[in-house]
Amino acid sequence: MVPAWLVAAAVGAVVITLHQAHDRLLRGLTHHSASQWAEYVSRNVPDIDLLFDGEPPSVLAQEHFSGLRRAGDIVRFDIFSSDGRLRLRSESLSGLDAHEIGSTDGLAAAVAASGMARSGMLQRVGAGTPGPRGFAYVPVRLSGQIAGVARVEVDHKVVAALVRRAFATVALSIGALMSLLFLAAWVARRRHRRQQVMVDERVRFLAHHDPLTGACNRASFQDALTGACSRLGADSRGALAVLCIDLDHFKEVNDRHGHAAGDAVLRQVTQRLSSLVRSGDIVARLGGDEFAILQTGVTRPDDVEALASRVTNALAEPYDVSGYRLGGGASVGAAVHGVDGFAAETLMNRADAALYAAKAKGRNAYAFFDPALDGKRERQRRLTQDLRTALEQGGLSMDFQPVFDVDGQTMLGYEALARWRHPVLGLISPVEFVPLAEANGLIVPLGNWALGEACQAAAGWPCGLSVAVNFSAAQFRHGEAMLTHLRDVLHRTGLAPERLEIEITESVLMVDTDNALMCLNGMHDLGVRVALDDFGTGFSSLAYLWRFPFDKVKIDRSFTHLLGADEKVSLIVKSIVSLAHELRIRVNAEGIETQQQMAMLAAYGCDELQGFLLGRPGAVDLPGLAGRRMTTAATAARANFTPLDSQAVSL
Ligand code: C2E
Ligand code: MG
Ligand code: MG
Repeated sequence: MVPAWLVAAAVGAVVITLHQAHDRLLRGLTHHSASQWAEYVSRNVPDIDLLFDGEPPSVLAQEHFSGLRRAGDIVRFDIFSSDGRLRLRSESLSGLDAHEIGSTDGLAAAVAASGMARSGMLQRVGAGTPGPRGFAYVPVRLSGQIAGVARVEVDHKVVAALVRRAFATVALSIGALMSLLFLAAWVARRRHRRQQVMVDERVRFLAHHDPLTGACNRASFQDALTGACSRLGADSRGALAVLCIDLDHFKEVNDRHGHAAGDAVLRQVTQRLSSLVRSGDIVARLGGDEFAILQTGVTRPDDVEALASRVTNALAEPYDVSGYRLGGGASVGAAVHGVDGFAAETLMNRADAALYAAKAKGRNAYAFFDPALDGKRERQRRLTQDLRTALEQGGLSMDFQPVFDVDGQTMLGYEALARWRHPVLGLISPVEFVPLAEANGLIVPLGNWALGEACQAAAGWPCGLSVAVNFSAAQFRHGEAMLTHLRDVLHRTGLAPERLEIEITESVLMVDTDNALMCLNGMHDLGVRVALDDFGTGFSSLAYLWRFPFDKVKIDRSFTHLLGADEKVSLIVKSIVSLAHELRIRVNAEGIETQQQMAMLAAYGCDELQGFLLGRPGAVDLPGLAGRRMTTAATAARANFTPLDSQAVSL
């Protein structure tokens, strides 16, 4: 903005400049008129030379001067001889007053001496004085010589009026221009202020909200929760609840469809959550794919359960992202004020613990905090830390469980099963540590280690024996890298690809089917076989059978255990075997613990048998493997094994 003093100074400068220009103009005009008048006089007034010589004006000269008294804008004149003495005055053409005769004008004498005209403006004396007048002393030349000087007064009334009008127009224009400038500056300043206000508002908004989704951020959520908890105090119960929400498989969306798709899903999640809550409730994005709701006005636990259920249902719906329908699903953990704690931090921690419990239920589920969860979470946290150390320091080992042909005699190979002996807690089951590795980014190092260990061992076995390695769904997220690693391991260990079998569960195909199929085909291309593990335990095992040409299905041991106890299980197993055979897929039956189970499975047409009855997981015990520790597991199993033909199998 231009400061006011500068504007005033500019206006003052303009006024002074105009005034000076006005003055210069009038003086120029005076000089011009006077010069012309003198020129005229020198040429046309008779006896002018005599007048300059000191003679009184002749009658002819008087007549001529009388006609010049009102010539154009000339209103007065005096005639001086070259020594500056007054000779004639327009008011007394017939003769000068006594006191005027011989009076000398210094300026006239100077002009006559220098030949340079002088001009100036007469000051107005009073209101009665006519308009602006200029005067000029101009030399009068006769035959080229300065014979005298004429002092002429010029009336500029008309010109001054014109100039005044012109000045007024200019002043008005300048005024209008300045006003416009002021207006423009004012508008610009207002706009700048408005923008500043908007920027301030945005900065304030961003301090409390997530820029991507517009939901509250973690800091403002915690502030709101802390405020609400302290207002409720330690007496009131259940008036508010915290729901922690985590999207299922969001990482796959990001990895497979890019971050723009991930962002679009997060925005849609925010919209859905916002549409489910009541005014006063707060929806926040805590970071990544974690959201939270502060539910207020809770009167009974059912209110919290109803919201948790609405959230899981709403987020289970697929998301439309650039023409794709991406799968939904979320897990929700809830903690209620006064029931699960009074402090904001406690409620957050407990809702988070409940969230883990919901995830453990198999995702797309909700759970409330249970005091037992605290201990479980602490154990999980410690185990994760220790597992990381174990992976770095070679603290894991590999057991191998033998797989037999249906004759129960011919060994086909081994399944590699990871083992972790914790230095304090003892043996930890893979059922516990594999999901921990999956959830905490350790599955790739674990899977790579297991593959290397299994292939290395199998490369030293007789050529007829193969090795089966379990792969987790999480390993398929980085499919290309996984295939490259697989190729490298086969190359490094020298194991023939057809001796390696990868076991997957249907969860691999559930998450991102296209990517999974690409990986499985890549494995086939390498010459590696693929088996579908734990068949029959998933939601839709059959649905996945036709999607990929599996080499083998492994009937889960939950079926094996019920054989003989439940007639329907027998029917299911027989159907699985018959269907798999139709599709040219081999069938392995896991978890065989009794002779009866083995006999029944053999009778139903299973191709391979595996279970404690035949051999427990342990070290490989093959005669002729120099330097290897010998155990009795496999041999003992075989020693206890009674060949099929000696068993009575009733179907
Ligand atoms: P799985 O692949 O289905 O492995 C078979 C599981 O059944 C093994 O449990 C094995 O010890 C057990 N088993 C075998 N025969 C019998 C039997 O007759 N009776 C009973 N009750 N159990 C039997 P384990 O070793 O505890 O492994 C559990 C699961 O952990 C495995 O199931 C597999 O899904 C996973 N796992 C093990 N090692 C690895 C690994 O290196 N990577 C991955 N991703 N998962 C692994
Ligand atoms: Mg397996
Ligand atoms: Mg299995």
